[in-house]
Amino acid sequence: MNTFSIAIHGGAGTLVKGMMTPEKEQEYKGALKLALDAGYLILVNGGSAVEAVEEAVVILENSHLFNAGKGSVFTATETHEMDASIMDGKTLNAGAVSLINGIKNPVSLAKDVMRKSEHVFLAGDGAMQFAKQLNYKIEEDSYFYDKFRHDQWIEIKDTDSFQLDHSVKKDSKFGTVGAVACDQNGNIAAATSTGGMTNKKWGRVGDSPMIGAGNYANNKTCAISCTGSGEFFIRGVVAYDVACLMEHKNMSLKEASDEVIYKRILKIKGDGGLIAVDTKGNIAMPFNTEGMYRASKSSNGKEEVLIYK
Ligand code: ASP
Repeated sequence: MNTFSIAIHGGAGTLVKGMMTPEKEQEYKGALKLALDAGYLILVNGGSAVEAVEEAVVILENSHLFNAGKGSVFTATETHEMDASIMDGKTLNAGAVSLINGIKNPVSLAKDVMRKSEHVFLAGDGAMQFAKQLNYKIEEDSYFYDKFRHDQWIEIKDTDSFQLDHSVKKDSKFGTVGAVACDQNGNIAAATSTGGMTNKKWGRVGDSPMIGAGNYANNKTCAISCTGSGEFFIRGVVAYDVACLMEHKNMSLKEASDEVIYKRILKIKGDGGLIAVDTKGNIAMPFNTEGMYRASKSSNGKEEVLIYK
């Protein structure tokens, strides 16, 4: 049997040890562990990598702690605009949604775009029409209200600042979520979900729903989910760049991921990180920020739930 494994992230950023209370730290770790275990259980039971990454991301979206689903940040007009994507490394099928609201689990809508439409990427009103056609429940705005996120928004609303929240306030961070997995058959998949940037406007979309930038999976090489300053991750075509280095330069998963996060993306001043898995179940989780909420579990017995360097 193939070594199977899963890795998840809950965003990267200025996460310095001692900044959070031990209780808060435990809360984050507990939420990560819950998502990790749920995804891993699917793999143990012979489920596919696609199912495992969707399940892990659904659980992270349901937590108010992360900037995705329930805990999504506020836009300049005090609304939520969420983005998500998923990719199946076996078939290269992919689905993505952008600028959606009221959907509890954007990653599942992305999966439905992949499975139930002829398209890859649906955005805004059209994506919402698609959701309604599939009888998705539309949640009230109050479902997505989180005081911490609202306070973050209050601080910069009415300014032109729509930078990623960590560059505005020293102690904040990215909170996008993602998962990558390799199943018992050696198939891999990746999923990513985000509320984007606090105070974003003009229909701004980051890397998270963009296949090749924030999310990518190909059984030939690797499955990747990114978090960080989306504009730079788009310009660096980060997720696909890791796959290219493996395919064309014969780099290992770790070498390729490190090259992109510590060298290539830093050269254009991009900060953030990624989680990666290959078809042998190897895992890499590099980041160039102070910390990244992350966790991984493999059938070889290794398990980690980490925040700091
Ligand atoms: N990459 C996301 C975006 O730019 C933000 C994040 O990772 O938290 O929308």
